[in-house]
Amino acid sequence: MSEPKRRLHPETIAIHSAAKRPETGDVMPPIHLSTTFVRAPDGSYPSGFDYIRSGNPGREELETCLSELEIAEVAVATPSGMAATHAVFSALDPGDRVLVPLDTYYGTKNLLHTHFERWGLEVESIDMSSPTVIERALERRTRLIWLETPSNPCITITDLGHAIAAAQRHGTLVACDNTWATPVLQRPLELGADIVVHSTTKYIAGHSDAMGGAVLFRERSETAERVREAQTEAGLTPAPFDCWLIRRGLYTLACRMKTHCENAQRLAEFLETQDGVERVHFPGLASDPGHEVAKRQMSDFGGMLSFVVHGGRERAFDLVNSLSIARPATSLGGPETLIEHRASIEGEGTQAPEGLLRVSVGLEHPEDLTADFGEALAASTA
Ligand SMILES: *Cc1c(COP(=O)(O)O)cnc(C)c1O
Repeated sequence: MSEPKRRLHPETIAIHSAAKRPETGDVMPPIHLSTTFVRAPDGSYPSGFDYIRSGNPGREELETCLSELEIAEVAVATPSGMAATHAVFSALDPGDRVLVPLDTYYGTKNLLHTHFERWGLEVESIDMSSPTVIERALERRTRLIWLETPSNPCITITDLGHAIAAAQRHGTLVACDNTWATPVLQRPLELGADIVVHSTTKYIAGHSDAMGGAVLFRERSETAERVREAQTEAGLTPAPFDCWLIRRGLYTLACRMKTHCENAQRLAEFLETQDGVERVHFPGLASDPGHEVAKRQMSDFGGMLSFVVHGGRERAFDLVNSLSIARPATSLGGPETLIEHRASIEGEGTQAPEGLLRVSVGLEHPEDLTADFGEALAASTA
């Protein structure tokens, strides 16, 4: 296949990226487990690989595919989403100030407060849905602003274009955790962000059976080099089999996202009509405060929703225990619908209301899902 001139669509990129292996003719990538590679008589490494920590063919294929999907110049695969997040913050310097959303992913917030404050980063949590709050916070010397949209657990939408423009006026780096939207629905680098972070454990791997992460950079930079060093020098290096599973997930990402989005839309619309439900957070609902912005910056509204039941924690647990298809477990992005009471998993300091349940809407038939939630709501009212 000669190099296409057109930019291909994500569906096509995900399948054909780095798929040429003339030496073996493999259509699907093999798993390279070798930790070390032979040197030529002159001491060079003819394959370009020397040792597993500095490079692995499958990891490179995964990185190439991710960089083509996000339109990034540099991609660094890591063994988890938190390793990716850690690598980004460790590329900053002690004394740097960072802005994060009030409702940033709980693990990110914990990492910043337990590790990076001790390490010398100054962290401020702000309401990213308010342009004036962002502007005011940026006025003080800030090295990096961290965005996450849609957010967890209230599925809040941040206007990426606005936040990125404000950061650029102040010379501040912009990193966006794009785990929930995936490059199929939203591409922050195209909107001017500098860095995208993924937990590939979620939609990208897509089957709740592999852990991974990635950091992507719009352009080469010193920060990108530092993140690469975290992978190859500090050892935030993913295992070959995980890279293979995650690369495998990418083949079907676009078609899975389509069904996740359709099912989430159906379930959100259904929940909105239910008496036991106080409110539904889902940007695909016209009533949602993030609807217009999400419509502008995403190609669809995603597979994550949350809702608040009347009756607080007790009713929420009752409902979860009355469901027969949706399973009570943390995490997201797999084929199965998962439901989670966020306040009890996050514990002290949680922003989640006691009656809130977060749903990762899976790939089951939507009528089976709405029936399951309808029956459980009826059973838990009684
Ligand atoms: C899960 C998740 C992470 C952390 O990723 P791990 O792969 O579990 O380390 C970070 N950000 C978001 C938005 C997530 O959902």
